[in-house]
Amino acid sequence: MALLEIENLSVSYGSIRALRGISLKVEPGEIVTLIGGNGAGKSTTLRTISGLLSPQEGQILFEGKPIACKSPHSIAANRLIHVPEGRGIFANLTVEENLRLGAYCRSDTNEIRQDYEHALELFPRVKERLWQLAGTLSGGEQQMVAIARALLARPKLLMLDEPSLGLAPQIVQLIFQVIRKINAGGTTILLVEQNANLALQVAHRAYVLEVGKIEMSGPAAELANSDDIRKAYLGGH
Ligand code: ATP
Repeated sequence: MALLEIENLSVSYGSIRALRGISLKVEPGEIVTLIGGNGAGKSTTLRTISGLLSPQEGQILFEGKPIACKSPHSIAANRLIHVPEGRGIFANLTVEENLRLGAYCRSDTNEIRQDYEHALELFPRVKERLWQLAGTLSGGEQQMVAIARALLARPKLLMLDEPSLGLAPQIVQLIFQVIRKINAGGTTILLVEQNANLALQVAHRAYVLEVGKIEMSGPAAELANSDDIRKAYLGGH
């Protein structure tokens, strides 16, 4: 059974049709990426999966169960965790307080402590800054805190929206190495990226979204070699 399955999903903002009947699957253990240009509907897809938007049509199944009408809180409690574009960091709280909020649905104290230590091992820079106010971190450090905080929810599916956005290339490399490690540790990932090059390097499979429709899908390596994809998204000729 797929971990996440979306069937014929349509979402509108008033009269703007942002998603026009998209279908996709994420199997356990995969990194799946959703790539596409500005305004293609990538963030809308993640926001609908995490319960922030209601679809006009279609189904979302998580572990085989419909979640399209559930609240964001109950979806997160099922360990489907969304790191939004812009990161959603609480600027006036310390890094440590931000991290602890990731575990707010949990009461398994020992496991929370393990996940906390593990997140800090993945991001040593976060560990050095536990007492700093999160709003004073650099953009890259805030992205690390946002991902580390998500790990405190022990996600079954981790959805990352544009983790590379606005960051220096070196920091982006570091964050993508950690994304690989998180997946190697058994966490399934749905990654939204405008940086198709990077996303196709790290993902197993990919979907290409254009103006609210899936235009292409397949193994990431195959799409990275496709002439159409190279021309449209990879700066190729
Ligand atoms: P980007 O990478 O630029 O964020 P995206 O692929 O994530 O692009 P979405 O943000 O999902 O795209 O937007 C899809 C469409 O829905 C766009 O036409 C956008 O203008 C529209 N849209 C997004 N959010 C809203 C909103 N709150 N109100 C009205 N229209 C919206």
